[in-house]
Amino acid sequence: MTGSITERIAQIRQQLPPDVRLIAVTKRVSVEAIREAYQAGVRDFGESQVQEAAAKQDELQDLPDITWHLIGHLQSNKAKKALTQFQWIHSCDSLKLAQRLNQLACELAVSPQICLQVKIMPDPHKYGWTIPELLEALPELDQCKALQIQGLMTIPPLGLSRQETLGVFERTRDLANEIGQQNWSNLRMHQLSMGMSEDYALAIQAGATMVRLGRIIFGERGD
Ligand SMILES: *Cc1c(COP(=O)(O)O)cnc(C)c1O
Repeated sequence: MTGSITERIAQIRQQLPPDVRLIAVTKRVSVEAIREAYQAGVRDFGESQVQEAAAKQDELQDLPDITWHLIGHLQSNKAKKALTQFQWIHSCDSLKLAQRLNQLACELAVSPQICLQVKIMPDPHKYGWTIPELLEALPELDQCKALQIQGLMTIPPLGLSRQETLGVFERTRDLANEIGQQNWSNLRMHQLSMGMSEDYALAIQAGATMVRLGRIIFGERGD
């Protein structure tokens, strides 16, 4: 990987269809690097931990038009804090969490944007609904009126071939379409949050509307 953060963002933009939202993932990335990405025009930033994000968000208060996206697993006891810090939560991965967020969103009078994290293939390392679990939870999710449920998020398991990875993204898209065609009053399925540094081209091929890119913008994090 070569070039500055600014140059890399410009290169990535050229490869993204204009309606695909670029979320710059800034876990373990410095505030200075975040500012550079902001200067390059990025307004959507993703963090995986509520705590880590808080420190940076404090330092970046002079940049008021940032949209913050929570992309990592959220524990119930941090849900309230998450709702005050993030406009989007991509990692809503259980009915219990959705109902907790719904209750807190009512209390706080906020209406967070939500993606439901699905696990298309078995993966012990990842959170998320399996397809049958999600389908079963839909009636109750539809009752979570304080949440603006916008679509699905997925992370393919590590070690898949490109063809298998594409298959996971396509299955996620098909699932969103299937749910979108049912008559739910509060479940919109317009957003597909999928694609990371290694696989975002495949995700776009399958119809991603939001890609979450870290290393390809900011370099290796050492994980
Ligand atoms: C870290 C992370 C990303 C970004 O991954 P890269 O490989 O650095 O692009 C995207 N989504 C989630 C959920 C992550 O935790």
